[in-house]
Amino acid sequence: MPSTFASFPDTELEAIYEELVREFVTYQTNVALRAISRFPNVDMAMIYIEQPDGSEHQFLAIDPRQATNPSDPNSIGANQDPVKLARYRGYIATAYQVANQAVQRVINAVGIDANGVPNSNVFVVSDHGFDPFHTAVNANAFLTANGFDTTKIRAVVSGPAVNFYINLAGREPGGTVTRMEYLALQQQLFNALENVTDTNPNYTGGPTAVFDKIYTRPVPDDINDPQFGRLTNDFIGQDSGDVFAMLRTGYNFDGVQNPVVIRKDDPVVANPVLSVSNFYGAHGYDPNISNMSAIFFAAGPDIGRGTLRQIQTVDVAPTILKLLGVEAPSTVDGKALAVRLPKNLLTGLRDQLNALVGGDPETQRRYRNAVDALNRAIDSNAWLDGSHLRNNGDMVFAAVANAARELLEIENPSSSVTAIVAALADTARELAQIAIDQAVVANVNERQIAAAQQKIQEGDASVASGDFVGAIDSFKHAWQGASRR
Ligand SMILES: [Zn+2]
Repeated sequence: MPSTFASFPDTELEAIYEELVREFVTYQTNVALRAISRFPNVDMAMIYIEQPDGSEHQFLAIDPRQATNPSDPNSIGANQDPVKLARYRGYIATAYQVANQAVQRVINAVGIDANGVPNSNVFVVSDHGFDPFHTAVNANAFLTANGFDTTKIRAVVSGPAVNFYINLAGREPGGTVTRMEYLALQQQLFNALENVTDTNPNYTGGPTAVFDKIYTRPVPDDINDPQFGRLTNDFIGQDSGDVFAMLRTGYNFDGVQNPVVIRKDDPVVANPVLSVSNFYGAHGYDPNISNMSAIFFAAGPDIGRGTLRQIQTVDVAPTILKLLGVEAPSTVDGKALAVRLPKNLLTGLRDQLNALVGGDPETQRRYRNAVDALNRAIDSNAWLDGSHLRNNGDMVFAAVANAARELLEIENPSSSVTAIVAALADTARELAQIAIDQAVVANVNERQIAAAQQKIQEGDASVASGDFVGAIDSFKHAWQGASRR
């Protein structure tokens, strides 16, 4: 029996979806705003906006290899439906607008100051990027086509990722596979995955491996080791498969149609591994692929103005903890970002020092020298903006090092002084890292970047050994290396 929706024309289905996009995001935003209005003094409120994720899955048709009619394999390339492609572009634009309006409603709820800065710190983050895909991959068809016994290996897919679980005796309930057989199956699976190749010229310029990354669960040297089948590493966690693999972009495990639609010029078989998919956008590929990058925006009373270096999603939680004044537990990955931006950080450290000035005349002199040095660092014309230095930026590093040197001369320094010295080194590091990230974006040659990165590592080693002035000097060299054009 055909689905009820099959009798509706595409444009009506799309109109229904668009209404859902607007209504659901409005609903999600209302829930968040109601929570904020009921608990106006809450320390943190979190809101999830479903768009543009949903719309990009449905409508990210931007690659000529994507069939604009999922039931017609010929609707690729010159045969794509240009009117549909234009409509789809419009839906994606709508999704971004709707998400943008949701953020604006949150900003309106917390209010803004005279400069338009939100009165509360507002973070806008996503957890992944997106890529278009043209081909659906059937993991079970892969197992069958390669002669694997599916009572011994089970595939669990999620987007472009697949976990293969071997039915290992002693680990799985009713497991049937011996340890010797596990070793053989794991290797066979790895080899078979490596050999899955797309050779269809409609989809690839030349034979292309369909799998981008393949990882196997580590096995102990001794087959009788009680940890056999349970070892983990960076890529295979406790609950991962015995083989974990990720597809190359353009391919996705979701979207296999029933009945299956054979791709243009592929051999006609009953259960193909590759087929025409029935939707268009996916995520979950190797996070190092640039299109998989997520977004990070922040504005508010504790946030500076400028551009941060490239950050990792794991840095978000420690950043928020730091702003809330909560110490991150040791189990928290990532590092708090300098969201106040280096120039503001130095200003804050200068203000902290000003408040500390006291003690015997010699100590007072050291404090004052450190404050003067930081004033030189902050007020110099070396700043392009709150996080970027001009060509004469080395004078900022020199002044910061000077401040640290003065503070380290103080006898029996308080823990605040020690913390300020460490923060000075950390800010110098941030300036260097920002310059390195800029150099990467500017395609500066890899050796120059590697040399600058090496200086950062030397600086980190100096920090670890308590040599903060030496560290600031290394960070200065890193900055100089990365800034040279
Ligand atoms: Zn999604």
